[in-house]
Amino acid sequence: MDKKVIIELSHITKQFDDEIVVNDLNLKIYENEFITLLGPSGCGKTTTLRMIGGFEKPNAGEIIINGKIFNELPPYARPINTVFQRYALFPHLNVYENVAFGLKNRNDTYLSNFYQIDPTLDKKVFKDVLKKKIDESVVEALKLVKLTGFEQRKITQISGGQAQRVALARAIVNRPQILLLDEPLAALDLKLRQNMQYELKEMQKKLGITFIFVTHDQEEAMTMSDRIVVMKDGLVQQMGTPKHIYNEPVNRYVANFIGESNIIPGVYLKKDLVEFMGVKFDCTGYTFANNEVVDVVIRPEDFDVVKLDEAKLIGKVTNSIFKGVHNELTLDANGVELFVNTYENYEIGEPIGLKVDPYEIHLMKVNKDE
Ligand code: ATP
Repeated sequence: MDKKVIIELSHITKQFDDEIVVNDLNLKIYENEFITLLGPSGCGKTTTLRMIGGFEKPNAGEIIINGKIFNELPPYARPINTVFQRYALFPHLNVYENVAFGLKNRNDTYLSNFYQIDPTLDKKVFKDVLKKKIDESVVEALKLVKLTGFEQRKITQISGGQAQRVALARAIVNRPQILLLDEPLAALDLKLRQNMQYELKEMQKKLGITFIFVTHDQEEAMTMSDRIVVMKDGLVQQMGTPKHIYNEPVNRYVANFIGESNIIPGVYLKKDLVEFMGVKFDCTGYTFANNEVVDVVIRPEDFDVVKLDEAKLIGKVTNSIFKGVHNELTLDANGVELFVNTYENYEIGEPIGLKVDPYEIHLMKVNKDE
């Protein structure tokens, strides 16, 4: 079944003074998708999010939501809520009141509209019905973020992680179609952040809301996203599933940004044969011109350590860092620095034999601008 496009960004450009911060961005976001805009500080990801949310207007291009152009509509007219890095909770309200705030305002507006249409309306009965509805929604939202029992707590009496959960509950309480999350976990410590990553993903699946997430943390993006959009200087470098981007980076920038990589200059000799570090290797799945210069990408976990007489490459250990489950080795292989992950322990200075399977060898076109 075809996935339904919920948001389309078509040729979006945004300029502040002389600086183009988003440059001709084209992106389709699908219903129920968890999509992450990933890139270093200043690459334009927050500005993109703010344009989707209606907090900034693009200089050119169209923002299409559910098939309609939304460029001119203010944030409150969009089927979208936002969770910011600084959760911006109301300090004078308790947890329950913070989550109920938006719904209560909306219901007060409903009530006065209905009353204008029908002044005979029994305001008390109507108000009670709405109040009950709010209560059900708030209880459900707090349950989803695991804060049942915290309703009466003051905002000053909860932890940073709990405050971020309140902000999330407030954003999902009216079940928006789309939730924008701008580095919402950045202020949390590592352990809490990892828990929240898992919970956010679970929540997104349960609610069926489209999540558009912004982060500069590649691990966070890999853990949660259905698709990642890697940005640099206002330009999209690559978009795809975490696996695809990890395994098939299109250039050095993406390869370096998405995890540790060995990037080695090589030559694509002919179909399924590449040479690097003076050795020929079988490869698979790439088409370049014969004898074209390429960049070879091998992830540190994809090298196999083998006996020296079976090795295609040999390197000497120059550094070894214990990472809990595996060791991260740095090797000197004839002047080329290689990173290799192993479960075994090796001594500094020890020679190590390496092999690599054809399907673990990834080839990229050489970009002269990088
Ligand atoms: P960060 O992770 O640091 O927020 P980002 O990738 O989200 O970075 P943006 O916040 O989108 O990047 O900023 C992109 C560029 O636009 C930056 O150079 C920033 O200084 C500039 N910029 C953002 N907002 C404004 C503004 N209101 N006025 C002028 N320049 C701005």
